[in-house]
Amino acid sequence: MKKLTDSNEGGCACGYVRYKIISNPLIVHCCHCRNCQRQTGAAFALNALFEANHVELLSGTVNEIGVPTPSGEGQTIARCPKCEIAIWSNYFMGGIKDMIRFIRVGTLDNPDLLPPDVHIYTMSKQPWVNLLPDDLAFEEYYDYEKTWTSENRKIRKSLLAKALDE
Ligand SMILES: [Zn+2]
Ligand SMILES: [Zn+2]
Repeated sequence: MKKLTDSNEGGCACGYVRYKIISNPLIVHCCHCRNCQRQTGAAFALNALFEANHVELLSGTVNEIGVPTPSGEGQTIARCPKCEIAIWSNYFMGGIKDMIRFIRVGTLDNPDLLPPDVHIYTMSKQPWVNLLPDDLAFEEYYDYEKTWTSENRKIRKSLLAKALDE
C-alpha cells in the first residue's frame, strides 16, 4: 500500500477548493468503465478511496451533483463551484455512500504517490491501454474479501454496521 507523506494535499484548478488527506487510502481504483471514460474524456478514472472524515476541506466548498450509473444507484460528484473541476465522488458502496470519498487522484498535488491497486471494468478497457502481467484486474467489479486488506475490510464492515444503525 502506498504511503502519503508530506504531499497529502490537493485541490481544484482555480485554487478555491483545497483539501488534505489524513490517512492512506483504503484502495486505489483504476476504472475503465464507459461512465468514467465519458466523465474524464479519457481512457479511465483513477480514484483513491478514503473514509469521508479522513478528507479535510482546507478551503472552499463543493457543489454536489448527482449523475446516473448503470447500477441505478447513482453517483454524486463533488465539484468546485467556481472552476467546476471534480474533486471526489460518492458511490452507493452497499449503503455507505456518504462515508467513503473517491478522491480523483489527479487533483492531488503529487498524484504520482497513488498508482492503482486494482483495475476494474476492464471489459470496456480501451484497446491501446496495456496492463502489466502482475496487475490485479477484473472484467467488472471485485470481491472485497479477495481484494481489500484485512485491516481495510474491518473498516468497511464497521462502516456498513454504522449505516445499518442509522
Ligand atoms: Zn476551482
Ligand atoms: Zn468507472
